[in-house]
Amino acid sequence: MQTVRYVSTRGGSVPVSFRDAVTLGQANDGGLLMPNEIPNVAERNDSWQKLGFADLAIEIAGLYAPDIPRDQMSQLINDAFSSFSSPDVVPLRELNDCFVLELFHGPTLAFKDIALQVLGRLFELTLEEDDSYLNILGATSGDTGSAAIAGVKDRKRLNIFVMFPEGRTSLLQELQMTTVQCSNAHCIGIRGSFDDCQRIMKAIFDDVEFKTRYRLGAVNSINWARLMVQIVYYYFASLRFDEPVSFSVPTGNFGNILSGMIAKRMGAPIETFILGTNENDVLFNFFCTGVYERGQVHPTLSPSMDIQVASNLERYVYLQLRGDSVALNRFMDCFAETGRAELEGQHAHVEKVTARRIDTRECLQTISQVWQDSGYVLDPHSAVGVAAARSVGLTSPTVCLATAHPGKFPDAIARATGSSPPTHPFLLELDQANARKVVLPPNEANVRDYIVKELKTA
Ligand SMILES: *Cc1c(COP(=O)(O)O)cnc(C)c1O
Repeated sequence: MQTVRYVSTRGGSVPVSFRDAVTLGQANDGGLLMPNEIPNVAERNDSWQKLGFADLAIEIAGLYAPDIPRDQMSQLINDAFSSFSSPDVVPLRELNDCFVLELFHGPTLAFKDIALQVLGRLFELTLEEDDSYLNILGATSGDTGSAAIAGVKDRKRLNIFVMFPEGRTSLLQELQMTTVQCSNAHCIGIRGSFDDCQRIMKAIFDDVEFKTRYRLGAVNSINWARLMVQIVYYYFASLRFDEPVSFSVPTGNFGNILSGMIAKRMGAPIETFILGTNENDVLFNFFCTGVYERGQVHPTLSPSMDIQVASNLERYVYLQLRGDSVALNRFMDCFAETGRAELEGQHAHVEKVTARRIDTRECLQTISQVWQDSGYVLDPHSAVGVAAARSVGLTSPTVCLATAHPGKFPDAIARATGSSPPTHPFLLELDQANARKVVLPPNEANVRDYIVKELKTA
């Protein structure tokens, strides 16, 4: 294989190295970065089967990040996964009719930790070498903020500012952000909605002078490094079986399932993908009809999937169009202008995706049923995946991804089972007495002033 370079899905920027792809996050032409080639490494499956999770991650990172020396990458990855509370990192559990891959053993008990623990360290490494600094600004409706803070906590040359709608996240979610004890994380409760937080963030990022002067960046859900790390657990889990497996994935932004599709293209023994959505069913509709159409956001029990614009879908469409950036631009422009775009027939479904829409009633029923049958408690996101898999019918061994620990969603679990969920030591440790945050009115000027003041005293 030639040395991998990262190209924009929109075809309008020069190819860049892995390090630049990590730093940039998004391509300069507004597209998403993709490796110019996805290597087929199926001949390594036998030897890779013997590797532990971190060692497999080092092999896969070696393919995509040739510009980071192996010993550095190896140290970074081992360090990232040493913060996980399970020695297997991603333990596989067997239920009556399917398997559950637990991706929630990181510091904030959600699957985003897996990639963000690595990404924070990758940022630190590149900033160190460039003798530079980065101040991350983010907006969260709940879950992503805490995983991003945990990824940046104690990392040198990085600060993080996270805005969240004051009083509108759950108390657990807020405490997971505000009780992190480190000097480089700043939590900002905004007296307004999540939309206000996003509007303020966009306004600040649009001010290029301010953004450059204060070295502001984003922890984008579209950073290629996040997908690279997520490929690992699909590959790892698929090698635990004697026959090709199917994966069922509770989906929001399409980052998780897309990583699985890339693992399959690399040669992981994967049969099909089952995509589960909640009532926010843009992706369900897309995989049934080829039409991608934005609607209103419906709040559900699985808030991390309450998404109407799935940013990583662009990469999927690009793959389906076989890298035809002209057609991709047409698709994305049409969606941006009209809120609707269609992927022409013969291209769709090459990846064998079966989509299911799981409503709140089915989600609760699944939590309750699995609990009664196996004594296992699913969180509401993971329950969407299990319900989707069951409704498709389980012909080959099926691995359902468990994306969050049930203890994070006590109200939903109580509704489904009539009793409180198993809790987790990390959640019991959250102590309101240690919470640190500022609360600001929903306007850009106050947030700017706060950032400037904090960076001056840092
Ligand atoms: C983010 C998230 C998802 C959705 O993952 P995508 O990559 O956005 O599809 C599902 N479950 C949980 C718990 C999450 O935090």
